[in-house]
Amino acid sequence: MIDTHAHLQYDCFASNLEGYLERAVHVGITHHIVPGIDIPSSRESIALAQAHSATAATVGIHPYLVLSIVRGETTLESLQSEFEKLVAISATEIVAIGECGLDYHYFKREHIHKDLIEKHKSLQKSLLMIQVAAAQKYNLPLILHTRDSEEETVSLMQKQLKNLSRPILFHCCPPNDQLLTFALEHSFYIGVDGDVTYDKVKQEFVKRVPLDLLLLETDSPYLMPEPVRRQTRYPNEPAHLIYVAQKVAELKGVPVETIDTRTTQNAKAAFSLT
Ligand SMILES: [Zn+2]
Repeated sequence: MIDTHAHLQYDCFASNLEGYLERAVHVGITHHIVPGIDIPSSRESIALAQAHSATAATVGIHPYLVLSIVRGETTLESLQSEFEKLVAISATEIVAIGECGLDYHYFKREHIHKDLIEKHKSLQKSLLMIQVAAAQKYNLPLILHTRDSEEETVSLMQKQLKNLSRPILFHCCPPNDQLLTFALEHSFYIGVDGDVTYDKVKQEFVKRVPLDLLLLETDSPYLMPEPVRRQTRYPNEPAHLIYVAQKVAELKGVPVETIDTRTTQNAKAAFSLT
């Protein structure tokens, strides 16, 4: 099995990283994709991949970084230049660009004033386009984070398709018809996480995703699956990918070994892993 989304570079894993990796081996995980969400975490992801052969790095800037831009802690220009420098020196080591994308969900949570929403949207779009350009330039797949922005994501990515030679992955794919249709049309991958173990809407959604587009993710340290969710909520860890695989197998009516084999093949193809 391959955990195609685990933030193993986060501090919560540092004190016992070997333990987490060993437990993952015990459930049959051979690779972990470790996505960057900003410049420091992307650098840490690269360092992790250099130190541990089972981990593979990505470089990305999450749409949440727009909050830092609006607060004046950084600028779009400086993020762009740091991002482009980092990708340029690491392009042969990393396996994807992202996670990046559009997230309109935080506007409510962060009480973004309605007059500022267009500014946030436009900055998110600029950040995403910088990363689409890098995926194109370096011939890398793109990991998309999509929240409450399905329509805008599809219309934006539709225009970029001709520029991208490698696949797009909908990380923690929202159960949305438009995204699914788009993914089916263009053979984009659909990441399924621990919430599929308890979210009925996601369960119905996963039943409609063909096996050859499915990827398994834990999104560690987030999205703890059932049944471990009852004991603890944080941090989720890659070894819990087995619960995601088991639930997907049950929903698809196939043995868990089939889910393991097929999603491993998909992940290897998506990220060009050997
Ligand atoms: Zn993530």
